[in-house]
Amino acid sequence: MAAKKINTFEVIGSRFPGLMDEIRKTIQDSEKAYDRVGSRSDSFLWEHTMHVASIADRLAQSERVDPVLSVAAALFHDAGKFVGGQYHEEGTIEEEESARIAERLLRQHGMKEADIRKVLSGLRALYNENIRKNRIAAILHDADFLSKFGAMGVASFFAKSTLRGRTLRSTVLGHLSKELTYAACLPLSMHTATGKKMAGQKAKDTLRFFHSLLSELREAQVADLEIRRLRISNPASGHRLLAIHLVVSPACPECGKGWSMKWATEKGIKCNKLNVDWNCSHCGEQIETSFCLPEIA
Ligand SMILES: [Zn+2]
Repeated sequence: MAAKKINTFEVIGSRFPGLMDEIRKTIQDSEKAYDRVGSRSDSFLWEHTMHVASIADRLAQSERVDPVLSVAAALFHDAGKFVGGQYHEEGTIEEEESARIAERLLRQHGMKEADIRKVLSGLRALYNENIRKNRIAAILHDADFLSKFGAMGVASFFAKSTLRGRTLRSTVLGHLSKELTYAACLPLSMHTATGKKMAGQKAKDTLRFFHSLLSELREAQVADLEIRRLRISNPASGHRLLAIHLVVSPACPECGKGWSMKWATEKGIKCNKLNVDWNCSHCGEQIETSFCLPEIA
């Protein structure tokens, strides 16, 4: 039977008064120090943080992991992203900085030392092999990935593109193959059972949306693109198949004749890459795309 749902954000608010406000302020200030554009009260990173924290709450309650500690960890998971006014990529110093900020604020607000240690080890395990043993890290991982899909995930995908000055056409041409592939593989990349269940629904919603978008772009004559699917064996584990979705022009965009595609995987430092080459034998047009393959849990 489902356990009675608690309002974790209210619990955090009453156990640790002022903590949420202080995390929000820390995150907003670090984002503003990095990116001086935009109004003071708007923060992409805070919106993302709240989204991830609310998914973490849902996962924790259903997985019977302490929701207060899971949500607290989620609130800090990106806190170190812009430390020192610089952007830090995941798996670099970000999680160490996030843990440092978490330790300071949680201690200030009177969280028990044993609980602080659990939050910190969850944050630190997020990008290392301990993720397989650490339940809080597993929840953070799944919540962070789930936040990238579904309606809010798709909305932030386009918001980011807009910030970088990209049109719809250049966004779908340049980035949608990776996005669709990650959506299709989302259930396989989850570390928790509840995450896997939510991933199935989010993957479906996301793929359905992008299919409609591509057909509207075609009708509007903005971009004539189709999705080619292939299944490749996962270079990381061999026997698991990955569903790859490639967004591509059905014919050579230069001369309109048929063209052919070749792909290969390549072991990179941070990920296994998929390299795809499109080749037109009529006019010699060549287009390459390449992206990191999703990691399978
Ligand atoms: Zn051609």
